[in-house]
Amino acid sequence: MNTAALLRPLAPLYLLLSLYAPSAAATWLHEEADIMGTRISVELFHEDAAVARRGVDGVLAEMRRIDRTMSPWIESSELARLNREAAAHPVTVSRELFDLIATSLHYSRLTQGAFDITFASVGFLYDYRKGVHPDEAQRRAATDLVNYHNLILDPRAPSVAYGKPGVRIDLGGIAKGHAVDRCIRLLQALGIGQALVTAGGDSRMIGERWQGRPWNIGVQDPRDASKLVAIIPLENVAVSTSGDYQRYFEENGVRYHHIINPASGDSARGMRSATLIGPDATTTDALSTSVFVLGVEAGLALVNRLPDIDAILVDAHGQLHYSDGLLPAQTQQDVKTPTSAPAP
Ligand code: ADP
Ligand code: MG
Repeated sequence: MNTAALLRPLAPLYLLLSLYAPSAAATWLHEEADIMGTRISVELFHEDAAVARRGVDGVLAEMRRIDRTMSPWIESSELARLNREAAAHPVTVSRELFDLIATSLHYSRLTQGAFDITFASVGFLYDYRKGVHPDEAQRRAATDLVNYHNLILDPRAPSVAYGKPGVRIDLGGIAKGHAVDRCIRLLQALGIGQALVTAGGDSRMIGERWQGRPWNIGVQDPRDASKLVAIIPLENVAVSTSGDYQRYFEENGVRYHHIINPASGDSARGMRSATLIGPDATTTDALSTSVFVLGVEAGLALVNRLPDIDAILVDAHGQLHYSDGLLPAQTQQDVKTPTSAPAP
C-alpha cells in the first residue's frame, strides 16, 4: 500500500473534512449509537434515501446482534455460556462464533501468543473503572491459565471446550473488527458504494468519500485527546487503533490498562498506541492488539513481513514509527526506524 505520499502528520482533521464536504442535495446519512460498550458510527451515501436508511438501520441491528452473541457481560450470550460450561464439557456454538474463535487462534499462532483470547483468565481480575488489579500472587496463578492451547475446537459440531477449569475467553480484541466487516458486507449487498463504519477504534470504508477524495482517518495523540499525530487519507481499507488511553487507571505512577501481555498477565507497556491499516477490520483489530503487546521492534518486524498491512506506532516516549510501506520510497533503504514523521 502506498499512502506515504499522502501522510499529513499534525494537520487538523476538521479542516480536511470540511474541504471535502459533499453537496447538500446528496443523500448522506451519519448516525451514532452506543453498542458493544463503545461508540458505533455509520456514515454512508446512496442516491435512494430508502436504501441509505436501510443501510444505517441494518448496521445498528447487526452491531446489536453481535453484542448479544459475543458479549462476556450478557449472561444469555453464547460466549458467556462458554465461560460457564466449556471447562466441564464441549459446548456447541454457532458457526459464526466458532469461526471467530478459530480466527483468533490463527492470530495467536502468527504472533507467538501475543494475541490470546484466554487473556481473560487473568483479565477478569482487573476493573479499570473501579481501579482494581490483582496482587502478584493472584496474577501469577491466573496467568498460568492463559494459553490458547487450552481451547479445544471441534469443527464438526461445531463445539468448543476448555482444557482446564478457570479458563475464560474474551473477544474484545477482535469482535469489533468482525462486526465492522459484517456491516460492510451488508452495505455492499445493498449496493452502497461509499460508506464508513466505525466501532470504537476499528473502522472500515467502502470506496472513496466524495468525488475522488479519500476518507481521512485521524490518529489520536495518546496523551492529548484534542490532538492528532497523523491524518491518513484512505479508501477501501480498514484501520484499527489499540491504545493505553481508552480504559485505564493509574496507581503510584503505573498505568493499568486493558491490553494484557499474556506472558505476564500485566498490562503491556511497550507503547502508547498501535494503528494498523489492512484489507479488513477483523485483521486490523486482531493485529492492533497483537502489535501493541509485541512492542515496537517485534511489532514492526511482523507488520513488515505481512503483505498489505501497514502500521503507525506511538512508542512509550511518544515517538512515531512507521512500517516500511508508509515510508517514502527513496528513504526506505536509509531509514529503518524513523523517530519522527516523514515529510509530507
Ligand atoms: P478497544 O477498541 O476495545 O480499545 P483493542 O483492539 O485495543 O480494543 O483491544 C483491547 C481489548 O482486547 C481488551 O479490552 C480485551 O478485551 C482484549 N485483549 C486484551 N489483551 C489481549 C490479548 N493479549 N489478546 C487478545 N485480546 C486481548
Ligand atoms: Mg484490537
